[in-house]
Amino acid sequence: MTRIVVVGGSLGGLFAANMLLRDGHDVQVLEKASGSLSGRGAGIVTHDALVRALRRSGVPSEATLGVEVPGRVMLAGDGRTLDRLDMPQVLTSWSRLYDMLRSAFPPERYHLGCAVQAVRCTGEGCEVQTSSQTWQADLVVAADGIRSAQRQRLYPQAQPHYAGYVAWRGVAEESGLSSFTRQTLFPYFGFCVPPREQIIGYPVAGADHDTAPGRRAYNFVWYRPVPMGPVLDDLMTDDEGVHHPQGIPPHKVSPRHVAAMRQDARRLLAPQFAEVLEVTSQPFFQPIFDLESPQMQADRMALLGDAAFVARPHLGLGVTKAAEDAVALADALREHARIDEALAAYEALRRPAGQSALARARWLGHYMEHAGEEAPADALNPADRRHQVLHETAIDLERYGHRSAFVPPGAGLLATAPPLITLWSPR
Ligand SMILES: Cc1cc2nc3c(=O)[nH]c(=O)nc-3n(C[C@H](O)[C@H](O)[C@H](O)COP(=O)(O)OP(=O)(O)OC[C@H]3O[C@@H](n4cnc5c(N)ncnc54)[C@H](O)[C@@H]3O)c2cc1C
Repeated sequence: MTRIVVVGGSLGGLFAANMLLRDGHDVQVLEKASGSLSGRGAGIVTHDALVRALRRSGVPSEATLGVEVPGRVMLAGDGRTLDRLDMPQVLTSWSRLYDMLRSAFPPERYHLGCAVQAVRCTGEGCEVQTSSQTWQADLVVAADGIRSAQRQRLYPQAQPHYAGYVAWRGVAEESGLSSFTRQTLFPYFGFCVPPREQIIGYPVAGADHDTAPGRRAYNFVWYRPVPMGPVLDDLMTDDEGVHHPQGIPPHKVSPRHVAAMRQDARRLLAPQFAEVLEVTSQPFFQPIFDLESPQMQADRMALLGDAAFVARPHLGLGVTKAAEDAVALADALREHARIDEALAAYEALRRPAGQSALARARWLGHYMEHAGEEAPADALNPADRRHQVLHETAIDLERYGHRSAFVPPGAGLLATAPPLITLWSPR
């Protein structure tokens, strides 16, 4: 039995903890947040690999994951439906996944309010230190997110790189929407693509994970270019003048910025989306980052989920990627008696996957990067851009494959993303 300490009790950490515990290891999870994480996050697109990972984590197969949509709609700025795509998908929420994974894990092994301050590993094992206790471990799983202190300790050169745009996010209650919006947008995975921007949305369960008609909600993500520097700094500063460079909490986002965002929505977006944004009680935003760690393991430590790789959200894959990391780590520990060999096998499998996800997501989102006032026109014409967005955003590659393969001429990204062509060839 291997003693394993998981640093970070969010979704990545919980996937790993559940699977490793079920494989007979002695697992403890240390999470720095002191209250339940359940209120975090918004909508999450599911993939078949995510469902399999939930089953392996001990989540009962009859558990309702979320809301199923029959397909996608692309809306024009005036609200007309420009295009449709039959593509059934199940949309869930961060808090639904968190609650299911927490329920599957013994509470006495999940420690809230335990910020890991230091980890020291030798060939013999690791010491994990919090303010109140030192934990002994044979293996440490660092699932401590994009700002991972463990990754920064091992690979200080690997820092998040701002992509040049932000994502406004939020959730609107179904009951607050007009019948026009409930009919033309709400049942679908919806899209609208103004020049160099993109909004997507989909229905999710409402309060208490309720999926009954009338009690659901509509989750949106609106990507907008924002230059780095004073404009981004102002956005990340609250009304008391406090700057939040690591991420501004939703309730601190200035009402001034929310009002400006809603005004832009009325001008740029289909009226259905503008209405969703209008009735969302607390819109918030996150800058979009790329992050690549040069390695995923060292010194009896595995990096997992966003601690290792952050791909832009256009694949809808962040949680599934963390879950697949957990599966690969558990498999490697089953197959190799020695921890160093297991870690090497884990890295060999998951690092190429992380690199491919990063490259593909960057390729899908690069046209929204802020490129100054004199930015050249989008390399794709509007119809082709809409087609690409509709067909390639957050698709389940296992189920639907890669349906189209637009390569923006002169984008210069193929040099960094050759696996796209081989891994995602059209079916
Ligand atoms: C706009 C947007 C839309 C997205 N949409 C989707 C989507 O549709 N589908 C999808 O799959 N993914 C999506 N994602 C990505 C997804 O949210 C992340 O990939 C995923 O949550 C990563 O999980 P994680 O457990 O690796 O990291 P995190 O969720 O960041 O968790 C890290 C945890 O570590 C804890 N921690 C940090 N330091 C310490 C410490 N020193 N000691 C103890 N604990 C510590 C933190 O408190 C936190 O709980 C989206 C992301 C964005 C920005």
